[in-house]
Amino acid sequence: MTMLPEAKLYVDGTLREAAAGRTFDIIGPWTGEVVGKAADASAADVDEAIAAARRAFDESDWATNVELRVGLVKKLRDLFEENKDRLNELARIEAGAALGAVGRAHVDMALDGWDDYLRVFPEVEWETDYGTREGYGFTSHRRAFHEPVGVVGAISPWNVPLYVNVGKVIAALLAGCTVILKPAPNTPGMGAIFGELADKAGFPAGVINVVFGSDPAEAGEMLVTDPRVDLISFTGSTGVGKRIMEKGAQTLKRVFLELGGKSAKIILDDAPNFAMEVAQTMLVFHAGQGCAVQSRLLVPVSRYEETKAILAQAYAGFGDNWGDFDNPQQIMGPVISQRQMDRVLSYIKLGQEEGATLLAGGNARPDKGTGYFIEPTVFVDVTNDMRIAQEEIFGPVLVVIPFDDDDAAVRIANDSEYGLSGGVSSGDFERAMSVARRIRTGSISVNGGMCIAGDIPFGGYKASGVGREWGREGIEEHLETKLIAWKE
Ligand code: NAD
Repeated sequence: MTMLPEAKLYVDGTLREAAAGRTFDIIGPWTGEVVGKAADASAADVDEAIAAARRAFDESDWATNVELRVGLVKKLRDLFEENKDRLNELARIEAGAALGAVGRAHVDMALDGWDDYLRVFPEVEWETDYGTREGYGFTSHRRAFHEPVGVVGAISPWNVPLYVNVGKVIAALLAGCTVILKPAPNTPGMGAIFGELADKAGFPAGVINVVFGSDPAEAGEMLVTDPRVDLISFTGSTGVGKRIMEKGAQTLKRVFLELGGKSAKIILDDAPNFAMEVAQTMLVFHAGQGCAVQSRLLVPVSRYEETKAILAQAYAGFGDNWGDFDNPQQIMGPVISQRQMDRVLSYIKLGQEEGATLLAGGNARPDKGTGYFIEPTVFVDVTNDMRIAQEEIFGPVLVVIPFDDDDAAVRIANDSEYGLSGGVSSGDFERAMSVARRIRTGSISVNGGMCIAGDIPFGGYKASGVGREWGREGIEEHLETKLIAWKE
């Protein structure tokens, strides 16, 4: 496998090694072997990045010069386009994206989202006029100014790293903030390229900084607890999200969290193309490592046996058409790491212990290579109180749960700590809409509608998060409101 170029830190306008000269290995999910090296930032590097971002925010015109920042964000976008082959390579080698998947949630969708941010940017409201009010014997004119919040610590996961990095960094930059990007230790290269290309684009020193290290928590915790950082924009697991909220409380940090999910797809009994709807829920894309994947399939009890037969056939049809690095038709590769593989396999074991039936898959597949391969897996005879129905597995594991009627479907879908996304299908649009309106989730697809794109807000209810990324709302998440009133 190709070795990736060394991932360098980008601190205060300089691309560089870690101050202590340390590096760590990037382990590729396809082979379990070293595919590159990355600078291993220490506390001193992170401290310098925070200081640089603070200085750039406080002392340069970045926060107020809209023309400068839109121009540079566009220039950076062009450089990402020119480097698309490298982005594809990083998505494949670091994150384990299959060749048929890089164009979707990985590279193309991320760059499309970037363009969407630029398109919605003119809609951002920078001022709100509240008019005049009489009081205390005089007239006051009141106007709110929406200003960039300041220094943003952007902490991202490994699953779709470019998409999440763009979602965070570009929104913050357009809002007028300065940023410290902290990618996951598995995918430092997809962070480092922001530093490299920002340098080429001519960003002022300190506006973008990129730090990463072998310790998954150290740099992130520094960002969360440092009073010089105004906002933490975090995407990752709910457990770490809770810790960030707790730790951030000491400096009353603004936290904006995109967390896990266990989204339900509800297929109602009158759904046209019932068989196709069921077959399409196979959880295989990027080995199920997506926060918004529909990992609980809910079908009418009257059609449960039929559903099992359809899924058995669909999984058999999918067969071995996955796990091949060079096959452009494939959308599923390995899971990210040995740790993730152990975790997913332990859930598969747990499902069997809980009394669910394995309809397909369930095994590690060392015959696919030395990497982290788990076959597409589906459990039936699942009840919603089982842990495999409640907890986010983050692997290619679908669970199928029967329901009696629409009310029960809504109850089961909502009986979850999460509330990120989901779907409803029915031949009766009003019926599908009425079910969708009752699901407590940040986005939901009705009859296959696409509820995730760069020009619309995305985020979670309940344990799936706080705040919204993407769209105008995603940029406005980085603004503070200052109200000025003057005597007339
Ligand atoms: P993770 O929570 O382990 O790590 C996410 C990031 O946080 C990484 O950069 C990691 O190094 C850092 N981190 C770890 N401990 C930290 C700490 N104590 N303080 C600060 N930062 C810390 O998540 P992961 O395993 O990288 O990613 C998978 C998770 O991400 C899944 O739960 C998935 O649902 C979630 N996710 C959510 C969305 C969304 O938009 N809602 C999108 C993608 C992934």
